[in-house]
Amino acid sequence: MKDRKPDTDLVHGGRRREWRGPAVNVPVHRASTILFDSVAELRAAAPEFGKAYYGLHGTPTQWALAEALTELEPGAAGTMLYSNGLAALTAAIMAVLAAGDEILVTDSVYGPTRRFCDGLLKRYGVATRYYDPMIGGGIADLIGERTRAILLESPGSLTMEVQDVPAICAAARARGVATLLDNTWATPLFFPAMAAGVDLSILAGTKYVGGHADVMLGSVTANADWYPRLERASWDLGHSVSPDDAWLGLRGLRTMAVRLRQHEANALKVAHWLKARPEVGAMLHPSFPDCPGHDLWVRDFRGATGLFTFALRGGGDAERVRFIDALELFGIGYSWGGYESLVLPVDPKPIRTATACQGEGPLVRLHIGLEDPDDLIEDLARAFDLGGATP
Ligand SMILES: *Cc1c(COP(=O)(O)O)cnc(C)c1O
Repeated sequence: MKDRKPDTDLVHGGRRREWRGPAVNVPVHRASTILFDSVAELRAAAPEFGKAYYGLHGTPTQWALAEALTELEPGAAGTMLYSNGLAALTAAIMAVLAAGDEILVTDSVYGPTRRFCDGLLKRYGVATRYYDPMIGGGIADLIGERTRAILLESPGSLTMEVQDVPAICAAARARGVATLLDNTWATPLFFPAMAAGVDLSILAGTKYVGGHADVMLGSVTANADWYPRLERASWDLGHSVSPDDAWLGLRGLRTMAVRLRQHEANALKVAHWLKARPEVGAMLHPSFPDCPGHDLWVRDFRGATGLFTFALRGGGDAERVRFIDALELFGIGYSWGGYESLVLPVDPKPIRTATACQGEGPLVRLHIGLEDPDDLIEDLARAFDLGGATP
């Protein structure tokens, strides 16, 4: 069936009869060695998607997850899997660049990606220049002789700027520059990246694909221009993901559409309640006008997920810490995208090098889980009333 809707792809993607047998699901298929029937067969074989060759190149469990992710991005040629999101990002960057090249990276980028660019990547002779996430088509002025790639992240980590992905990709394509998007927040369900002109779309599957805070996963989905090079680089770097983790990814993926819509509804309810509180300043949630790029989110996205940042009005870190410590239903910890709510104090200002960021006052990042949002609101109200933040 052509033109299946994404919800249908999530349910049916990767479930080939030859991989699952008569059962509904593809099982956990463990293998390092693959046996060949003869020397002739061994010599004729080569690593290839969907062909048993060696554990590094996957078994039906990993292929099923890769195929399901590829089907979510119309225009994609294939998907490579990684043991976490950061490994996916660094592999994609290494696949497209060589010594002497330059990469343009959004100033709102995920912190560990910045550390990779400023450290290891620099040591291997690739220069990084950070750009204003709101630059849009103006990126054309930054593309130089040595620029070979542009890394986007939309919305940005911590500060949530929504980028003009189509305009940046169009400018890049006109100059033969590859575009890489960290699409972890929206997933292909809420932002189909290939359709917007992105060459390599990256997910930390640890977040919404897994969805249950119990697995580390990453993926890069690439178009035909880049998939062969991505595949080669990933194998050369020795990347693989365990079949158990791939299976958890598949398990999570099947329900991702319903989970995302519930995260969205719950987060909107909590965010609107917060915005009306005297203790709250800027609401850095893409569906709020306070958020840089809000209009682009309205134009380009099919939804919002559960992660956003807000500013406390007045007070400093001590008040912020008291507020956070008073919360009972929100866990304090890194990562997000699971079924449970999380809270984190975030301080993006000192990290930025190209631009200042929005939001006066101490910032708090929330991930809104699948609890009843009224209970979350009651928890937040109680933490405010305990004097955690001063209006
Ligand atoms: C968490 C995250 C990553 C890294 O994923 P891990 O699986 O934790 O390595 C990358 N990008 C974004 C935007 C993230 O939030």
